[in-house]
Amino acid sequence: MPEIKPIKRILIANRGEIALRILRAAHEMGIETVAVHSTADADAMHVRLANHAVCIGPPPAKDSYLNVAAIISAAEIAHCDAIHPGYGFLSENAKFAEIVEAHDIVWIGPKPEHIRTMGDKVEAKRTAGALGLPLVPGSDGAIDTFEQAREIAAQIGYPVLVKAASGGGGRGMKVVPDESQLESLMSQARNEAKSAFGDDTVYLEKYLGNPRHIEFQIFGDGRGHAVHLGERDCSLQRRHQKVLEEAPSPVISAEERDRMGGIVAKAMADMEYRGAGTIEFLWEDGEFYFIEMNTRLQVEHPVTEMITGIDLVREQIRVASGKDLSCTQDEIRFTGHAIECRINAEDAYSFAPSPGKVTAYHAAGGMHVRVDSGIYAGYSIPPYYDSMIAKLIVYGRSREKCMMRLRRALQEMVIEGVKTSIPLHQELIEQDDIRTGDYSIKWLEDWLAERES
Ligand code: ADP
Repeated sequence: MPEIKPIKRILIANRGEIALRILRAAHEMGIETVAVHSTADADAMHVRLANHAVCIGPPPAKDSYLNVAAIISAAEIAHCDAIHPGYGFLSENAKFAEIVEAHDIVWIGPKPEHIRTMGDKVEAKRTAGALGLPLVPGSDGAIDTFEQAREIAAQIGYPVLVKAASGGGGRGMKVVPDESQLESLMSQARNEAKSAFGDDTVYLEKYLGNPRHIEFQIFGDGRGHAVHLGERDCSLQRRHQKVLEEAPSPVISAEERDRMGGIVAKAMADMEYRGAGTIEFLWEDGEFYFIEMNTRLQVEHPVTEMITGIDLVREQIRVASGKDLSCTQDEIRFTGHAIECRINAEDAYSFAPSPGKVTAYHAAGGMHVRVDSGIYAGYSIPPYYDSMIAKLIVYGRSREKCMMRLRRALQEMVIEGVKTSIPLHQELIEQDDIRTGDYSIKWLEDWLAERES
């Protein structure tokens, strides 16, 4: 029998909607919560709703939400027995996970060694390949010299993509159309990676022309059991940032989901992966190509919750405390369709951030409508953090019904005082390609460019 570590009080090392999301799962399990916050977030909803709150520093994230010493001290002072990192900030920091565990605090996340392996994209690709996942053709590991890059690029064929081993958010990534530009684009990618991640290691991949982004949600108990919770289609992206996500993918059949999900779950079981994880693939002409694994909860996790009825944060907490997964693969059923719109405080078309005071707020409601957000009327959106202020998630028995409900829900949302991306979403869901699900990762940028001209 595994050792059960009872969790009575969780420190939530995050802010905004995800801090609330974690708080809700914890409170429903009878677990207390401790919010941490920067001075800019003293009036935030997660601070108000948590059982206790600790201020951990000034507004810049490096002094507060990334301040390891302040967070560990807060956990000790407030007698927390677990820490949930949410997404972003310290969630994929293996060193932080180790420090948490060294303080005898339960880390609600994967084993630190798995965070480390998957955080290095070169290592991640090697590991995924060894576990039997299909890869994008490319260099076998890091590229050291330009000569080496030229040889490999010639083998895989142009266009190629130079990617940073420590990359994230699309940074340190360059598409190289032909050999004449390889040298200059490779050094640009290196410089970008060096300044963004302090690591200029790069590798090469075949640049796929028109793929979809399809990712599988997985869950492991850390002892060799793992399940998959189906896929999410996140192809609607701008500058590699997801804008709208849906589950299931409009192009994946039930048989294909079972087949690929089975491969992914087996890989995670073999690895003895613990907790929630997402395996990201590009998908083109019926083939999957692994690109990376995220060792944390994803922003878009609610669409999976809507079609499976499984609370992923509850599952994370269970597994972290040493319990078994709450269900077997056979018990996981996929029903209906869910779509999430990320609502940002920004101009809908120029994407310029629009922080400031929310003068009026009304969340959409009704059957099968979920709004995950930390804002309220009178709340001032601070300029220091990510611009996402709400997620609107809608469920329907079919994709068509889901789209109809989404249109109605978007119309109901009222956020005044700041600009938001709601008008963009309203326009998007009226487009034929979106209505029929016929879009790739290029679609949104092409559409935006056409709209501009
Ligand atoms: P990051 O960690 O920076 O987000 P990813 O490897 O997850 O990097 O890739 C982000 C996005 O970049 C993908 O969702 C896809 O849109 C695009 N992309 C990545 N690899 C390729 C590739 N080989 N061909 C075409 N597009 C790619």
